[in-house]
Amino acid sequence: MDGFEYKQGDLYADDLLIADLADQIGTPFFVYSAQGIRSNFRRLQSAFGQRQHQIHYAVKANPNLGLLACLSKLGAGFDVVSGGELTRALKVSNPEDIVFSGVGKSEEEIRLALEHNISSINIESAAELKRIQTIAQSMNKSATVAVRVNPDVDAKTHEYISTGLKENKFGVDTETAIGLYQQIQSLPNIKAPSIAYHIGSQIMQLGPMIDAINKVLVLVDQLLELGIVIKHLDLGGGLGIRYQDENPPLFEDYVQALVSTVDKQHPHLHISIEPGRSIVGNTGLLISKVEYLKNNSGKHFAIVDAAMNDLIRPALYKAWMNICEVQQNDSKSRRDYDVVGPICESADFLGKNRSLAIEQGDLIAVQSTGAYCSSMASNYNSRPRPAEVLVDGDKFHIIRQRESYNDLFDREIIPEFSAS
Ligand code: PLP
Repeated sequence: MDGFEYKQGDLYADDLLIADLADQIGTPFFVYSAQGIRSNFRRLQSAFGQRQHQIHYAVKANPNLGLLACLSKLGAGFDVVSGGELTRALKVSNPEDIVFSGVGKSEEEIRLALEHNISSINIESAAELKRIQTIAQSMNKSATVAVRVNPDVDAKTHEYISTGLKENKFGVDTETAIGLYQQIQSLPNIKAPSIAYHIGSQIMQLGPMIDAINKVLVLVDQLLELGIVIKHLDLGGGLGIRYQDENPPLFEDYVQALVSTVDKQHPHLHISIEPGRSIVGNTGLLISKVEYLKNNSGKHFAIVDAAMNDLIRPALYKAWMNICEVQQNDSKSRRDYDVVGPICESADFLGKNRSLAIEQGDLIAVQSTGAYCSSMASNYNSRPRPAEVLVDGDKFHIIRQRESYNDLFDREIIPEFSAS
């Protein structure tokens, strides 16, 4: 919990009492700590010392414009994976600080990237290269690209967020990459000064990251032998965080591992990284109210007003998220609860067998919900998505209004039906 702490049993975000925020905003809502975000970003920055580097925050982790603006002020660039994310990033960032990853960019998305002259389009197939050349030529533009290489390294993470194995859809193998870089030499509208890769998310060990760099450095040498000079490596994101009792590498050790591996062989290469989860993951809480407590034949349920549509990680990845009381009170009886939402699915749980001392009407906080939570929220069961709040010291900003019922069907159209 970066930016959150208990003081005499009451949970605070920076200097503000969460219970007070809940009174003003209603529940459920996501609350983020600006101080936590700044502290994480600055620690990561300073781990690089004097080494040239760029940090492109992975917008998919949490794309809220309030957070992007906060990160942009700190000097972050952005890694985007869709036209929507690109449009968001352009609202707070210079185009030259934006890179565009993703395996399935549409013509419209490529055109948007070229229109704004973003820093790099990270291509993932021969077909995408061909498409970019055609579009760039039609726009009379020069596209700067990196080839995303799949280094075939096991990131040792959940299979759904492992992206660097050859059976994954991402990137191209090194042989194909060599072919693409050779092809690019003769394409008039493309230049490719970089290689990119990203092997997965919630990575707990530095070994796979180092293996991936070493494989990519071999590629740098192979290209050099062919007269193709690579100036920059985009090392992706992926550093894990603690949800329960994991021990992720510290920023300092992570950066030291990346930098020393690159610098041993190619100290003049520029490097960039694309962290998401490790910057914002632990700087967010989902605050929810206990609607009912219920006992089904000895099994205790806390039915809360947040659900799998707001927080899908437990249902999607069987992810364990810590759940705590917002106001601790020893006089309340403690029990093991399945903390569940109101959605009509048994997958709708935020946590199972959690020891909590709670009563109906109390507030709970799901921890580590800064990354891949609000960004994955949906309107399933026609539930309006929660408000999002950024606390900064003793002030707070509502950075996303809670959706209304009207928002749910505002874009829907009822056709005229005849009676027959
Ligand atoms: N870069 C790319 C291309 C990604 O797909 C992702 C997410 O998987 C990231 C960066 C960010 O990863 P993380 O949030 O684990 O740092």
